[in-house]
Amino acid sequence: MPQLNDTANGSMAPAPQAARYDVAVIGAGAAGLVAALVFARDGYSVLLMGAARPVRDGRTVALLDGSVSLLKRLGAWPSIEAHAAPLATMRIVDDTGSLVRAPPVSFDSAEIGLAAFGFNVENADLVTALADLAARQEGIAFPGTELQSLADEGEAVRLVLADGSQAMACLVVAADGRRSQARDRAGIETRDWSYPQVALTAIFSHRLPHQDTSTEFHTREGAFTLVPLPASTGGAHRSSLVWMMSPDRAERVRALDDAALAAAVERRAHSLLGPMAVDGPRGVVPMGGLSVKRYASGRIALVGEAAHVFPPIGAQGLNLGLRDVATLRDCVVDTADPGEAAGLAAYDRGRRLDVGLRTRGVDLLNRSLLSGLLPVDLARGIGLSLLDRIGPLRRAVMRTGLAADEPTTPSLMRRADAA
Ligand SMILES: Cc1cc2nc3c(=O)[nH]c(=O)nc-3n(C[C@H](O)[C@H](O)[C@H](O)COP(=O)(O)OP(=O)(O)OC[C@H]3O[C@@H](n4cnc5c(N)ncnc54)[C@H](O)[C@@H]3O)c2cc1C
Repeated sequence: MPQLNDTANGSMAPAPQAARYDVAVIGAGAAGLVAALVFARDGYSVLLMGAARPVRDGRTVALLDGSVSLLKRLGAWPSIEAHAAPLATMRIVDDTGSLVRAPPVSFDSAEIGLAAFGFNVENADLVTALADLAARQEGIAFPGTELQSLADEGEAVRLVLADGSQAMACLVVAADGRRSQARDRAGIETRDWSYPQVALTAIFSHRLPHQDTSTEFHTREGAFTLVPLPASTGGAHRSSLVWMMSPDRAERVRALDDAALAAAVERRAHSLLGPMAVDGPRGVVPMGGLSVKRYASGRIALVGEAAHVFPPIGAQGLNLGLRDVATLRDCVVDTADPGEAAGLAAYDRGRRLDVGLRTRGVDLLNRSLLSGLLPVDLARGIGLSLLDRIGPLRRAVMRTGLAADEPTTPSLMRRADAA
C-alpha cells in the first residue's frame, strides 16, 4: 500500500495516491471477517483492517441454521464444522425456585424438520478458520493493520491506517466491536446500559454424553447454560458453559481452583452431565447492552457488536451480526456504487425491526429472571407452560428464533440451495 509523506530522498514528496477499494471492512472479528468474504465473493475489491487475535477464554458461539447456510456459501464451513457440535435439542429449565415455577421445556429441531438448530463452536476456532480463509481469498487485501482515522469525503471515504498508509473506499463496513471508533466518527448515537451480572465462560469435560442437547437453567442471577462441544481427541464428552451471576458471586467463583469450580458447576447443573472437569482457560465478561440510533450514516454501515450488544441468552448475538452482513449485501449488491445512499437507507430500515425486537426480547427475559416479583414469575411461567403444551406455538417460536427462510431472510442465509 502507498505510504504517506515518503521523504526518503529528503525532498518533499507529492501526496501519495491512496489505494482504492469498493469496500473497506474495519475489524477482523467474526462479523468483519464474514463481511470481507461476502463482498469479495460478489467480486468487490475489499480492504480488511485489523488483525485476527483469537482468544481462548472458554467462549463459544452457537451458530444457528441461517448462519451455517451463509458460512457454507462462503466455503468456510468445512474447516469450522471440524470443531463444531450439532445442537439438536434446546432445553429450558426454570431453576429460579419461584413459587410459580414453570415445567422444563424442550425444543427439538426434528419438530421443524431440521437435523439440528445449528452448531456450537469455540469462538477462537471460528475466528481462526475465517481469518485463514480471508488471508487466502482473492480480492481481499488483509494487511493486519488497524484503522487510525477516517473521513467521509462524499464520493468515497478516506481511511488512514496505523502504519500511515491511506486508502479510499466507496462503502465502509464498521465491524469494530462494541467500542466502535468508526461509529463515533460517523456521528451515530448510541444508548448503552449495564446489568448487575457477570458471565463466566469455560469449557468442561464430563462423564455423561450431552446428546446434542443444550440446557439453559434460568436462575435468579440469570441464565446458566451448558452447550455441547465435540468430544476431545481422547474421546471425553465436552460442553461449554455460560454462567451469568452477580458480581459478588463472580468474585468468589473467580477465586476457585479448577476442581472446586468443576464441583460448583456440577452442583448448579444438578449433575445433569455427571462429574465434570475444567478443560482450558476461563473468561469473565461484564454484562451490558448497546443499541444505536441508526445502522448507517453517509457511506458507513454498522454490523455486529458495533451495532448491537445484549446478554448471551438464546444464542442471538453473532447470529444477528451475520444477518446484518447478509442484509447489507442484499441492499447494495445490485448498485454500481455499494456505498450509495439508497442502499444504505434500505439497510438502516431493514435492521431496525429485527435488531430492536431481539434486543427487547432478550432484555425482558433477562430482567424477568432478576426481578423476583411474583407476577413477573407468573407471566414467565405461563409463557413457558404454553410453549410446553402447544405444539404449533412452540414450532412458531423455534422458527422465529432461527429466523431462517422467512420472507425477510437475506438470500445468503436461506437454506434451500446452501452448498
Ligand atoms: C459469554 C458470551 C456468549 C455468547 N454466545 C453467543 C452464541 O452462542 N451465539 C451468538 O450468536 N452469539 C453469542 N455471543 C455474542 C458473540 O460472541 C458476539 O456477538 C460476537 O463475538 C461479536 O463479534 P464482532 O465481530 O461483532 O465483534 P468483536 O469480536 O468485538 O470484533 C471486533 C474486532 O474489531 C477490531 N477493531 C476494533 N477497533 C479497530 C480498529 N480501529 N481497526 C481495526 N480493527 C479494530 C477488534 O480488535 C476486534 O477484532 C456471546 C457473547 C458472550 C459474551
